[in-house]
Amino acid sequence: MRLVLLLLTLCLALPAQAEGFITRLLNQPVPGGVAVLDLGSAASAPSATYQDKPVLVIHEDATRWIAIVGIPLTVAPGPQRIAVQTGDGTQSLSFQVARKHYVEQRITLKNKQQVNPNAANLKRIERELAEQIRAYRTFSPRQPSNLLLDKPVNGPLSSPFGLRRFFNGEERNPHSGLDFAATRGTPIKAPAAGKVILLGDYFFNGKTVFVDHGQGLISMFCHLSQIDVTLGDELPRGGMLGKVGATGRATGPHLHWNISLNDARVDPAIFIGAFQP
Ligand code: ZN
Repeated sequence: MRLVLLLLTLCLALPAQAEGFITRLLNQPVPGGVAVLDLGSAASAPSATYQDKPVLVIHEDATRWIAIVGIPLTVAPGPQRIAVQTGDGTQSLSFQVARKHYVEQRITLKNKQQVNPNAANLKRIERELAEQIRAYRTFSPRQPSNLLLDKPVNGPLSSPFGLRRFFNGEERNPHSGLDFAATRGTPIKAPAAGKVILLGDYFFNGKTVFVDHGQGLISMFCHLSQIDVTLGDELPRGGMLGKVGATGRATGPHLHWNISLNDARVDPAIFIGAFQP
């Protein structure tokens, strides 16, 4: 552990030489995880798609390209493939998805509408979902400023990604992000540079900010008490975007942070070095 910390420190000090090591830390090919794939040494950047969606491709060093692929929670363990387009045509590249066990969480909500919403609320939820899916499908050409992300708040991790959730005994969608315990009003900082592409006050997510870090790497921050940015704002790494709250479906103040890659919600813990296999 001490060696890993020492290596990490060295790598952060020498980013150019350490890029390969840092990106390989992201290779956790499980449902809800990330696959880092070597695309070889083409002269210009290859482009890649997974499940027909564009994938993040970066330089690993002077010559090699790598793809960083988000794997949806719904993918079954076993072989998967991406399509890679180079000057020579399209090739298929396969990778293996390993098994991961996600535990159950049982939550009691006093507001029954948040468990079984009525027709009017269902309509609102559907509209809000469509808006958010559109944001997740943004693919801008910019390179992410950093792939090892900063924690957006100073606070301990609470609910992990992927929990199978039961609200008042009824199974609902699994936990799509990572929760941080933090008091109301704690400032939330951008874990990497990015552009604010969506703001909302949603039924489930409460006051919410979407940030596009580039090439399909998107952050969503939920349940805010206050939003401090406007649509189109460019945030530097560490830039303040709002404050922790408990708006929407929340049992108390905390930050819920989603990370999406190629429109797949993946475990944010991977990007802050806190992944539990
Ligand atoms: Zn959460």
